[in-house]
Amino acid sequence: MKTDQFPINGNEHASFNLLKSALDSSITGIIITDNNLPDNPIIYCNKAFEKLSGYHRSELIGRNCRFLQGRERDQKARKDLREAISKGESIVTEIRNYKRNGELFWNELHISPIKDDAGIVSHFVGVQNDVTRRKNAEENLIFERNAVEQKVKARTEELKANQEYLDGIVQTVRQGLLVLDPQLNVISANDFFFRTFKVENRDTIGKKLYKLGNGQWDIVGLKVLLEQLLPTNNPVLDFEVEHDFPHIGKKLMLLNAHRIELNGKYKDRILLAIEDITEYRAAEVRKDEFLSVSSHELKTPLTTIKGYYQTLNKLIGKDLSPKALNIFEKTGQQIERLQRIISDLLDMSRIETGNLELHKESLDFDQLISEVVTESRNLFPSHQILVQGKLGKTVLGDESQLVQVLHNLISNAIKYSPNEQKISIHLSEVSNFAKLSVTDYGLGIAMEDQKRIFDRFYRASDIQKHFPGMGVGLYISEQIILHHGGTLWVDSEPGKGATFSFTLPIATRKVNHE
Ligand code: ADP
Repeated sequence: MKTDQFPINGNEHASFNLLKSALDSSITGIIITDNNLPDNPIIYCNKAFEKLSGYHRSELIGRNCRFLQGRERDQKARKDLREAISKGESIVTEIRNYKRNGELFWNELHISPIKDDAGIVSHFVGVQNDVTRRKNAEENLIFERNAVEQKVKARTEELKANQEYLDGIVQTVRQGLLVLDPQLNVISANDFFFRTFKVENRDTIGKKLYKLGNGQWDIVGLKVLLEQLLPTNNPVLDFEVEHDFPHIGKKLMLLNAHRIELNGKYKDRILLAIEDITEYRAAEVRKDEFLSVSSHELKTPLTTIKGYYQTLNKLIGKDLSPKALNIFEKTGQQIERLQRIISDLLDMSRIETGNLELHKESLDFDQLISEVVTESRNLFPSHQILVQGKLGKTVLGDESQLVQVLHNLISNAIKYSPNEQKISIHLSEVSNFAKLSVTDYGLGIAMEDQKRIFDRFYRASDIQKHFPGMGVGLYISEQIILHHGGTLWVDSEPGKGATFSFTLPIATRKVNHE
């Protein structure tokens, strides 16, 4: 090889040695092969290459570099190398090589041909670097990327399945569903919506909710609720809209809206569910009408029966034998009972139709209670009824309605505490309200029933259903108290009893008991 590019003091030998030491002190592995010799053997390797490969110089000289590839002969890099060498071209490639101890290392190989004066390739210089760490890092990266891609794929499929599942539900639901963005533009709608309103995609999607149809949802109250829904997270519950809709005419729709949240996403979407309750409401009205008509129909003959009974009582009451008298009295009690049931049903339908009439007057509340308690003591000798407290003031109210409330609460307290002997009534003044509580020490009411017992026909647990009743007394009582500007509520611990309390606004006048 020519070293005349490095003439040092004209001494070729010294130049060669200097060059050799320079190569030896390089931290990059360098080899030189002789292309003129058979099989292009290594004729030189520097110290860094010995370190890199683990082979001693004496084990390398004379061999073709390919032995470093071990058994991995079908690497693509090898083919590229062979081609470059046979064409006498330089090449940069990365090839898997094996150290003397069998350990794999990635060799970043730069091969350059050296040509003689005639332009024939006489030698190759191979500059080599162990890039195993970088390669491993790259491979790890690829592995990680593949793993992440796999995960993303699996997740996407899962989401797709979820989406299909949700779509299935959304399309099956018997309610019109709209998804709205924060500006209340319609993002999507289900089939049921299109069918209910006899509209199409283009009439709906991308449009403002208030612009739909003939402006049926352009209602100030609804707008306020929907606009506050996302900032406050308060859902819109059971908002009724009665409207003459295009294509479908006059309908009653029930609206419920909630913020949608799916795995922490889509937090700014609103799901609006629209239910056509026209038929349902009409059926309810028919049922109420039936109840009202039938109770009226029952009331008339019953009033006549009661009249005859009273007349009979006057005529023959005192002449009856003890046995016949007993039967006669029991008949009277059952007539009373039937009258109470019918009157409850009538009250209920009056409340439902908004026809509950209150004849308010100034009432001495202490006296009213004392009268009802006296009557109850006679009616229910099984229990001791204790009264604590006094109001000393009047309330403005309908006497017969308030008596009915008191009767309901006291008779319930007695009915639902069959194994106890005591009922406590407590009367007090709270702020400018009269407060009355009726406490029993009986069955009590489960938490989940406490809200519902004021609903029409709702009766709590199975045990309580063994007691006679229709589940309307509390409904009527609550409505009467509400119509008086008060509140009725219950506190109860199951198994320990219940306290029903109500408040009534106090009229200003004081009562003089003297
Ligand atoms: P009814 O007593 O005819 O069933 P109400 O409307 O008066 O109807 O009461 C509704 C339900 O509330 C009752 O069925 C019962 O389950 C429950 N309830 C009412 N009062 C009491 C009470 N004092 N203790 C326990 N449960 C009660």
